[in-house]
Amino acid sequence: MYIELNKGVKKYGGGENTVYALRNADISIEKEEICVIIGPSGSGKSTLLNIIGGLDKLDEGSLSVAGEKVSGMNEDALTDYRRDTVGFVFQYYNLINDLTVKENIEVVSDISSNQLDIDTVMKALEIDNLKDRFPKELSGGQQQRVAIARALIKNPKILLCDEPTGALDTKMSLEVLKFIGKINKEFHTVVIMVTHNEKICDIADRIIKIKDGTVAENYINTEKKPFDKIEL
Ligand code: ADP
Repeated sequence: MYIELNKGVKKYGGGENTVYALRNADISIEKEEICVIIGPSGSGKSTLLNIIGGLDKLDEGSLSVAGEKVSGMNEDALTDYRRDTVGFVFQYYNLINDLTVKENIEVVSDISSNQLDIDTVMKALEIDNLKDRFPKELSGGQQQRVAIARALIKNPKILLCDEPTGALDTKMSLEVLKFIGKINKEFHTVVIMVTHNEKICDIADRIIKIKDGTVAENYINTEKKPFDKIEL
């Protein structure tokens, strides 16, 4: 398995106030998959994504990615892992308002060792014609495509998306999902997407259902639909 979490435990607080965000969570994801993680609010989805992304550390259990044991890494190794292996896309785009589209993407490419060509990335997301605009001159869907380009420019092995369509209407959500699918196909990037929208499961190769910090289900979606056939 490409990504393997074994008996992952993450807790916050201490003593009587301890909150278990993850309790013995087991996860396995194959290379080149689109994996949708679904569960109610507070079930541990973001915690899981942050741990896979190296933003947060497990209290117990182990995580390995592409044969590397992430859970044992020191801070320096974890910094390299975050820079080289993962790209993040959030619900809110977090673009820098006084930088153009191109500059927003370049900010990241400067610090990455294995970057893709910026024109290739902008073309893939069909934002090359918007490259000199500022974020406030773009629709929400366009801004999210810029945020995806900013994550993709590092050529990450894994694209981690936390409710990427949470702030978008149906039409723009479908468009953003289509581009996420395109990236998975063309750049062979593993996509792990957190959502609470059941319908997004239709685009997944693998569906992981989280409940109270544990993995209730982890299975291959045999009814995966093409991106132009899904409804939200
Ligand atoms: P989801 O993404 O499914 O909404 P989260 O992973 O954000 O769930 O949170 C899981 C649980 O952990 C929740 O009960 C939440 O309140 C708790 N939690 C998450 N982050 C923190 C934190 N930094 N401090 C304290 N509790 C937290």
